[in-house]
Amino acid sequence: MRVPTAALVFGPPGSGKSTQAGLLADTLAFEVVDTGRVLRGILYDPARQGDPTIQRERGLFDGGQLMTPSFVVDALRQHLADLKAAGTSCVIGGSPRTMGEATEIMPGIIESYGLENVFPFLLDVPYEACRARNLARTTCTVCGRPQLALAPADGAPLRCRACGGELYTRVDSEKIDIRFAEYEEKTVPIFAYLESLGLKMIHIADDLPGTMYAEVVRHLAKQL
Ligand SMILES: [Zn+2]
Repeated sequence: MRVPTAALVFGPPGSGKSTQAGLLADTLAFEVVDTGRVLRGILYDPARQGDPTIQRERGLFDGGQLMTPSFVVDALRQHLADLKAAGTSCVIGGSPRTMGEATEIMPGIIESYGLENVFPFLLDVPYEACRARNLARTTCTVCGRPQLALAPADGAPLRCRACGGELYTRVDSEKIDIRFAEYEEKTVPIFAYLESLGLKMIHIADDLPGTMYAEVVRHLAKQL
């Protein structure tokens, strides 16, 4: 990207958000922003272990408790500002998931990259297609490799392509319904908030991942 750009990828669970983010990373050198990784990088930085704030937040993090929201927001803002200063484009897939997260994250993204360089994409994949993809996500019981596989109609067990071990489906149908309901209730309201900030959602029609990605890139063309 000639112009440092921030891409956000929204869509129901199973719509392929991480696939699209991964393609932006692999082909256009976008950095995938993973909030957890950013925070771990700061909390475990050997140079900062004497800092009482770091000690406090690390205690919360290591204890499995929620960290102080203002600390998380500041850390993310600083990370985005550093990326922008280095001329690096970034992609955030799978977050923000709630209005609370959106109001924490979005001002920092817009402040760093500038409104005209922030591109929110919405993967318009129907729930039924997402459901099928979610059910096809399996893990090998022997070697642990994740892989996509559809259950054969005859009910025979699925086998790992690498080791022949039996595959199990990671999410069941009821959990998928809960995730869709959460997406509707918590994530979809973010879209109106983004519009209110002056960001227009870019709808990407359901298709093969590569075709959807070509559409994403077409919308980023003026940044190239
Ligand atoms: Zn295996």
